[in-house]
Amino acid sequence: MTLRQVSPESEPIYDLIIALYAACKGDWKALAEKTGASEDEVNSFLEYAAQFLGNCGNYKGFGDSKFIPRISGEALSKLVSVSEECTKALEKASSTGGGLYKTKEPGMMHLGYPENGHLSTYYPDSPYITKEEITLVGELLEKEKLLLENTRLRKTPSGDFEVLIASGVANPPPSDRDLGDVDSFDLGGKLSGKKLKLVYGDHLNEMAKIAVEIKKAKKEAGNDIEKKMLEEYARSFGTGSIQAFKESQRNWIKDKGPMVETNLGFVETYRDPHGVRGEWEGFAAMVNLERTRAFGKLVESAASMIPKLPWSKDFEKDEFLSPDFTSLEVLSFAGSGIPAGINIPNYDDIRQNLGFKNVSLGNVLSAKAPNEPIPFIREQDEPLFREFRDAAFEVQVGIHELLGHGTGKLLQETSPGVYNFDIKNPPISPISDKPVSTWYKPGQTWSSVFGSVASSYEECRAECVAMVLSCEFEILKLFGFGTGEEDMSNKAGDVLYVAYLQMARAGVAALEYWDPKSSKWGQIHMRARFAILKTFMEAGDKFVEVKATKEDLSDLQIYLDRSKILSHGRPAVEKLLQKLHIYKSTADVEAGTKLYNEITHVDEWWGGKARPVVLDKKTPRKVFVQANTVLQDDGKVSLKEYEPTLEGMVQSYVERNV
Ligand code: ZN
Repeated sequence: MTLRQVSPESEPIYDLIIALYAACKGDWKALAEKTGASEDEVNSFLEYAAQFLGNCGNYKGFGDSKFIPRISGEALSKLVSVSEECTKALEKASSTGGGLYKTKEPGMMHLGYPENGHLSTYYPDSPYITKEEITLVGELLEKEKLLLENTRLRKTPSGDFEVLIASGVANPPPSDRDLGDVDSFDLGGKLSGKKLKLVYGDHLNEMAKIAVEIKKAKKEAGNDIEKKMLEEYARSFGTGSIQAFKESQRNWIKDKGPMVETNLGFVETYRDPHGVRGEWEGFAAMVNLERTRAFGKLVESAASMIPKLPWSKDFEKDEFLSPDFTSLEVLSFAGSGIPAGINIPNYDDIRQNLGFKNVSLGNVLSAKAPNEPIPFIREQDEPLFREFRDAAFEVQVGIHELLGHGTGKLLQETSPGVYNFDIKNPPISPISDKPVSTWYKPGQTWSSVFGSVASSYEECRAECVAMVLSCEFEILKLFGFGTGEEDMSNKAGDVLYVAYLQMARAGVAALEYWDPKSSKWGQIHMRARFAILKTFMEAGDKFVEVKATKEDLSDLQIYLDRSKILSHGRPAVEKLLQKLHIYKSTADVEAGTKLYNEITHVDEWWGGKARPVVLDKKTPRKVFVQANTVLQDDGKVSLKEYEPTLEGMVQSYVERNV
């Protein structure tokens, strides 16, 4: 289904990859010999196949542009001559949609609205559908309370419309449908005279299979909530009811801290140009017990750690409430890409009433290619960096999520004349040493006051908390490093050093996400890390320097003085953190925005000279070779892993395909 949601040709290209593997039984060298293709050509095909499988289609999962194989059409024809099946598979892949190679219309190299000449299979066979029509039909359905995540929209040659609803049965009984026995509408306004029909059974075969398997999974549920969740999944995928899907998600939220975490459905709407229809995805993951224990201890330490932050209890909640946060190890993630973390469900009404799950995917975050280069890290730092970067990141993520986002109080006039602080004796700002004079007015929220800068600003605040508190050796001990005594010479010191180095490195790499045309930042976390790098560099006494010996900066490196982390690094970050925190607490949007814009300003040296080097050295986006599980005859489940190679990637899909 995901393939089908990417492009018309993605399904036959997938079949071609599987067919070629079958023809050579995975012995690609033999395939080259047999067909007279060179090993280079076979390798080019494998590179394409790995990229295709990693993105679940021939458009980038992140970026939405079409990629084409480096192997020439001629050489590919040679390869498929190995069997009639492969020849046919290539014929089909080439003649469907835009085929494997460049399309005649350049617009079709990108996903987007058909009206703008782009490709979108969310509006199949509808080259003339307009953005306005998509909006109007969507508004009508919204009014009728039919949600769109599991639908596609088609405009028929007569100008009528069909909403294609994913379901395992073609004609579900009215009692199972979200709109009962209503199955068509007369459109009004600009579309008057046209009809809108609900058509069930999109992705029919797949949805039917999924519904059946989900029902079987119910037998293995860990508890009654999971049973209920699976029942609702089966109902949704069988009948096309999104209300049933929402019910499954309510149960998913209620299922707190299960050992095995899974989610499945038409979830994220990034790839529909209109941003309302979801891509099919699913994952199964396991709780990392060791990390969960460390995070638990971190939450327990909140009472002793929060007072170490640079603000008084006037600017802190009365009671620390740890945010929902779990760290998982992914067993399998199916979709057009694997995120490093997830925060779902996306339904606002569920989030407000029942909450959501905030999950970080540990083995996605820590995955790296063998001997992947680490730009900007000095040679003498590299061994330590490689050894401790995962540990340092774990400490950083834990503090960031739990004590970072978890801390802070907004001073509010909660309703007219009612305050959540003593208005007669307002708290004293540690920045001005004067009583605060601003706060949130009734109805104002953090994001309504700080607007577009809010999300990156808050990430920066959380990252600063991580940088400050990772200097607490008691916290490093919770994660298994050192004795809890202040000592830079042992493993705790190593982890702390690498944590600071890693932050500085992220700050340099962040420039990739700064756009010189608009002078704007495109990624909230990376903007935050740049702010912290600059703070390090302004800490004085050459605590951190970023410099090169060559004129073109091609050997740009970070020099971080380990002996000055506690004396220079921490205090500098504390100063920034204090300002970020107090301005946030007091709704001082003017000072806050000014500070944040200044500290994330990219000057000529960074933007003009350093950025090209950063772009030149950026590591390619990863694709992930995932394991398979196999049900054995004795009823046990075994895990099969694959080499992190092009061949391993293809093999893992072939063996998943049975
Ligand atoms: Zn965050």
